[in-house]
Amino acid sequence: MPENRGVVYIEQGKVEVQSIPFPKLETPNGRKIGHGVILRVVSTNICGSDQHMVRGRTTAPAGLVLGHEITGEVIEVGSDVETLKVGDLVSVPFNVACGRCQTCKEQHTGVCLSVNPSRAGGAYGYVDMGGWIGGQAEFVMVPYADFNLLRFPDKAQAMTKIRDLTCLSDILPTGFHGAVTAGVGPGSTVYVAGAGPVGLAAAASARLLGAAVVIVGDLNPARLEHARKVGFETVDLSQDVTLADQIAQILGTPEVDCAIDCVGFEARGHGHAGAQHEAPATVLNSLMEVTRAAGKIGIPGLYVTDDPGAVDPAAKHGSLSIRFGLGWAKSHSFHTGQTPVMKYNRQLMQAILWDRINIAEIVGVQLITLDQAPEGYAAFDAGAPRKFVIDPHQLLAA
Ligand code: NAD
Ligand code: ZN
Ligand code: ZN
Repeated sequence: MPENRGVVYIEQGKVEVQSIPFPKLETPNGRKIGHGVILRVVSTNICGSDQHMVRGRTTAPAGLVLGHEITGEVIEVGSDVETLKVGDLVSVPFNVACGRCQTCKEQHTGVCLSVNPSRAGGAYGYVDMGGWIGGQAEFVMVPYADFNLLRFPDKAQAMTKIRDLTCLSDILPTGFHGAVTAGVGPGSTVYVAGAGPVGLAAAASARLLGAAVVIVGDLNPARLEHARKVGFETVDLSQDVTLADQIAQILGTPEVDCAIDCVGFEARGHGHAGAQHEAPATVLNSLMEVTRAAGKIGIPGLYVTDDPGAVDPAAKHGSLSIRFGLGWAKSHSFHTGQTPVMKYNRQLMQAILWDRINIAEIVGVQLITLDQAPEGYAAFDAGAPRKFVIDPHQLLAA
């Protein structure tokens, strides 16, 4: 039996690379399946969503094999797989989706009804998402492979752009979904909260969609500097100048057409004093303030139903103090939820292959080995302006 190694969540602040079982063509509860494939993992990225678990801000159990951002090469196909073969290079949407249920048929693959007994929506290596084993590993199993996988048409060409294509499993479609659901189009003025990889991917997507100006906000000086370097306007929320005033300094008006929350529930407050504390509703409230009447707000930033580390008892159950009346008064639209990656990944693959978007440079892709994953988690947690991409078989480094 071939061996496997993967990144395992141990406890708050701690992950370890351990020996884990070689993947099997079976569901998390042990039912044999013919619709899956086994992949040799070519690249697998560390995500801000993983950090919520590793910071102890979810109910993730010890022993969870992490990793939902996966690109790989097919090494074994199940008996029911029809469109894939051994050797294919594929991008794995982070959503596990069946392709057969009502929401999958509606293209809402982020909330598939049949891959997670406890709620709608499945993902690899994630708490409450159905128990599918994570792909920050040497090998991983992907179910419903014909439906889920995006095959790169030319493997050799794809390998030359693999640092960009690795972003198709999550952050680029997620940023794009944020921009689309915020209504970004030609000439839009856009504010993106958060200069992490998702925020930068949203900003790059807004540019791809024709935005006139894209402003990115954060409190992390290194990330803001990186955002400016790759061509975006920035606002520094650790300053004692309000977000609206900083936007007015750039645009001449305190409101934007479109706003995207790429922060989520671990948001910090604004200003010198505010920045010292978490304030989980800050981003949502400030986006309602700065989005114009009838504007849309895209919310890829993650909000949870249970947060053991929350600042107050209500937030422990995901209840936040949101000034909903303001959004109502301005006729805002809100769009939340896990990104249905499959809605966008093929078009975005083409945008990468035809040099319409240099996403690896924009998010600061940095390759690391599987054994360096714990250091990658720590550096990302400390706010490095980087997207860490694990190269478990040293195929990208080569
Ligand atoms: P990240 O943690 O690297 O980035 C978040 C950034 O927000 C940090 O740089 C932080 O300094 C900044 N920030 C904190 N408070 C802020 C505030 N008040 N205003 C502006 N910026 C603030 O994470 P990431 O990988 O970029 O992911 C961002 C969010 O998107 C996370 O919540 C992640 O879970 C979520 N996500 C959602 C989906 C989805 O399908 N919806 C997919 C991927 C990631
Ligand atoms: Zn992710
Ligand atoms: Zn489904």
